[in-house]
Amino acid sequence: MTSTNINDQAIVIGGSIAGLLSARVLADRFASVTIIETDKLPDLPEARIGVPQSVQPHILFTKGYRILVELFPNIEEKLRAGGAIAIDWTREFDHFSRRGWNATSSFPSDLNSVSCSRPLLEWCIRQQLANYPNIRFVDEHRVTGLLSPSKTQITGVALRSATGDRQELPASLVVDASGRRSHAPSWLQELGFTPPPETIINPFLGYATRRYKEPEGFKSNWKVMLISQSPPKGTRLGYLAKIEGGEWIATLGGYGGDFPPLDNQGFLDFARSLPSLEFYDVIKGAEPTSRIYAHRATANRLRHYEKIELPQGFICLGDAVCALCPVYGQGMTVSAIAATILRDCLGDLNPARFQKKLAKSNSLSWMLATGQDLRFATTQGGSKPVKSGGFFTSYTERLLKLTNSDPKMNALLMEVAHLIKSPLALYHPQIAFKVLTKKD
Ligand SMILES: Cc1cc2nc3c(=O)[nH]c(=O)nc-3n(C[C@H](O)[C@H](O)[C@H](O)COP(=O)(O)OP(=O)(O)OC[C@H]3O[C@@H](n4cnc5c(N)ncnc54)[C@H](O)[C@@H]3O)c2cc1C
Repeated sequence: MTSTNINDQAIVIGGSIAGLLSARVLADRFASVTIIETDKLPDLPEARIGVPQSVQPHILFTKGYRILVELFPNIEEKLRAGGAIAIDWTREFDHFSRRGWNATSSFPSDLNSVSCSRPLLEWCIRQQLANYPNIRFVDEHRVTGLLSPSKTQITGVALRSATGDRQELPASLVVDASGRRSHAPSWLQELGFTPPPETIINPFLGYATRRYKEPEGFKSNWKVMLISQSPPKGTRLGYLAKIEGGEWIATLGGYGGDFPPLDNQGFLDFARSLPSLEFYDVIKGAEPTSRIYAHRATANRLRHYEKIELPQGFICLGDAVCALCPVYGQGMTVSAIAATILRDCLGDLNPARFQKKLAKSNSLSWMLATGQDLRFATTQGGSKPVKSGGFFTSYTERLLKLTNSDPKMNALLMEVAHLIKSPLALYHPQIAFKVLTKKD
């Protein structure tokens, strides 16, 4: 179904996670929703150039997963059919932080999601959207600007096809979900608006990722294993996850320019240098099934759309507004939350009000990511690194230590990390008592 009435039409720029989830909520309100995507969208779950991070690991937090299931009740089945692995984060996630491994629970919990490759997840969402007759994809087209004859209301977008053809598409609402390299600030500037101020906090984190075949008969309690960095000195991390197709995705990370090497021996040596040998011991004998992919565009970048005057009919969300350092695994969940905020604002959408609500919601994830990144002296941007030894640093250290021996504390930390509970839960009097009275 397409509509010729501009008031019935919405355009989404970018067909990745934020764009797809926004289109889903817009489909309940607009007669026609058009997703414009630069890449050719693959028919199968495959990585693509417009999302260079697709070959990197993507944790899906419980909060994000619950939103996905709410938006697409069949998605769980489709993900499982594609080979995604169900995970209980209190039982099947092994986490080494500071001085030891977390205490996992022996009982099932409802802190669940799936472990799979990023291309499979995105493909499953795209397949779900195919069930909506009022959503159409225009792939292999790049948006090149916003249309606004009045300079007060956005009335559509200008686009260019892969073969160079230009056209204009009308809409009463344009949603920019074109990721951390969004051009929306300069498009707004071309129309005479002040572009949003930006905050960039760069931890100079580099990833190196490789896939492995799970060895025949391999058994483990974990489905995902993480050996965390440990600021201010411990720059290195390792992440290993079981994904579809009997494969593992193995990632090494290094802060402050301590980038993991991209050759086989260098990769293994870096793995052996992690504070626990578990990661190295597991991958050393396994057969690699891919080359090693680097990713170094990991800075935290916040565009303050909430602080500027915006034309009517235009909003921005996802990484285009708040791109986070990937180590904390929040990006897709933050995009899913943004889609629910959009849904709640759609009755009477006011761009300024929407961006303010979004900024408030993003602020927690931003603080979490940048607060940790700033503990490395090499991180640039933001205010001065938090000094080690302050109350919050030592409280966090004690709390993390408790998660090594107390499964309930581990579960609580997981609920906070997965954006299910507020971080304030970690300071509840009963928890604070446990943390502060724990013997060293
Ligand atoms: C290395 C790395 C690892 C990550 N790991 C995790 C993780 O573990 N968990 C997690 O939740 N998140 C993770 N993220 C973040 C996650 O990838 C993003 O938050 C998520 O994809 C949402 O981003 P987005 O949809 O806003 O933008 P993107 O995913 O960047 O997509 C933007 C889309 O817009 C298209 N586009 C761009 N410009 C135009 C244009 N002018 N016209 C048309 N189309 C355009 C692009 O081709 C692309 O498809 C990671 C990110 C990185 C970099």
